[in-house]
Amino acid sequence: MRLIFLGPPGVGKGTMATRTKDLLGTPHISTGELFRENVSKGTPLGIKVKTIMERGNLVPDEMTVAMVKERLDKPDASDGFILDGFPRTIPQAESLSDITGLDFVLNLQCPSEELIKRLTGRRFCPTCNRTYHIHYMPPKTEGRCDADGTELLTRDDDSLEAVKNRLEVYTKSTEPLVHWYQKHGLLQNVDASAAPDGVFESIRKVLNR
Ligand code: ADP
Repeated sequence: MRLIFLGPPGVGKGTMATRTKDLLGTPHISTGELFRENVSKGTPLGIKVKTIMERGNLVPDEMTVAMVKERLDKPDASDGFILDGFPRTIPQAESLSDITGLDFVLNLQCPSEELIKRLTGRRFCPTCNRTYHIHYMPPKTEGRCDADGTELLTRDDDSLEAVKNRLEVYTKSTEPLVHWYQKHGLLQNVDASAAPDGVFESIRKVLNR
């Protein structure tokens, strides 16, 4: 199945895409993760995108599309994929439609006060990459990873200032895709304001699994 997870930052695209990947066995392609990998390895692409990402702005379409194209060309994506965080602009969606068809676009929806709470409370372990949340998924010992005891960090772009900017960028550049995909008959709305198990159930219903 060829799926897109669409929705504002903090709506839970990453969590739901990971669970859907386990359900379907298709690769989960997160452009945010791919960019972060490039930043942490210090690749030429990573050096170019580091500051853009820290501020919560979008990486230029050309670079993003080239990266996704390369990833979709890998053999594991030939039978299906889950795109998370791509496309984020109309030109990206147009480029994608030149590369491949799609089965569904899952549009995850949630009020913005809840999104801000979710994003600013998020923490991660720099050693093993496990993620936590100060309210919803706290570690056993405050500020420490359950698995290896490393001190937990906040992503640079989860600061309140960057989060507000990301939500504005979403409204301006990404939200128009909701209408675009609706027009193309691919859109399925999912209420993502509930707890993760409930949201995943709604997704299973849409996918008939
Ligand atoms: P979010 O929680 O905001 O959805 P992601 O992990 O998906 O975060 O993305 C983090 C950052 O990576 C974005 O703020 C942006 O700078 C960059 N990025 C990810 N996907 C795209 C894309 N499709 N187009 C442009 N920039 C992107």
